[in-house]
Amino acid sequence: MKASYVIGNWKLNPATLGDVQALASALTAGTGRCQVGVAPSFVHLSAAKAALSAGIWLGAQDIAHKSTQTGAFTGDVSGAQLADAGAQFVIVGHSERRAYHGESDAVLAQKITHAFASGLSVVFCIGETKDEYQAGKTLDVLAAQLQVVADFASQITADTDGALPKLLIAYEPVWAIGTGLTPTFAEVEAVHRFISETLAAMQVFSPILYGGSVNDTNAETFVKSPLIDGVLVGGASLKADSFARIAAAF
Ligand code: PGA
Repeated sequence: MKASYVIGNWKLNPATLGDVQALASALTAGTGRCQVGVAPSFVHLSAAKAALSAGIWLGAQDIAHKSTQTGAFTGDVSGAQLADAGAQFVIVGHSERRAYHGESDAVLAQKITHAFASGLSVVFCIGETKDEYQAGKTLDVLAAQLQVVADFASQITADTDGALPKLLIAYEPVWAIGTGLTPTFAEVEAVHRFISETLAAMQVFSPILYGGSVNDTNAETFVKSPLIDGVLVGGASLKADSFARIAAAF
């Protein structure tokens, strides 16, 4: 049975430690083929780890670009620190990091290097903006963003049953994030097929998730495609019952 992945990206939420503990402790591990993970903010990693049920993967939303585990990098967090706090994966390349922090492909490659060197898995996000979508440039944009992955092909081992894959790709159209808009099912499938073929040409065989306004209603649609290996969920991951329903769909 092919595994599926439902990962919550909590972004800059919740505001208080109490709310983090309440949310984390209300989550249930995936059942059947579904594996569940969540990515709280740095300051909440340890508290989330303590409150989460066994079997739920913990991730961070960012990692320092320099592959140094300690040193003079004010504000940065290293892979060793993340792993020590209980993180098993890190999100790299989210469009909000690309847009608000100017993260370039070169920086993203450094972050992946650092994550892998620290034993962390990577959820690598790619996606086109609304203008690029409307101009019919989606596949060109994704092909360019995926080039970052090519350098890591030899390090991306085949997935083993029940283990967190070393790399997961999340296709997140920027215009679909937090907007309530999503591409059609056919559009998502076509893009996932393209990503899968592009990765295969690099000898990379990683799960491909969809992200962008996933909720407990539309998850039922996305689950129908063998090309969609799971979802990366923002807003709907902040409500334990909605997140559980999305996970149950997968
Ligand atoms: P959203 O965010 O589910 O709130 O649209 C998804 C994401 O940015 O990962």
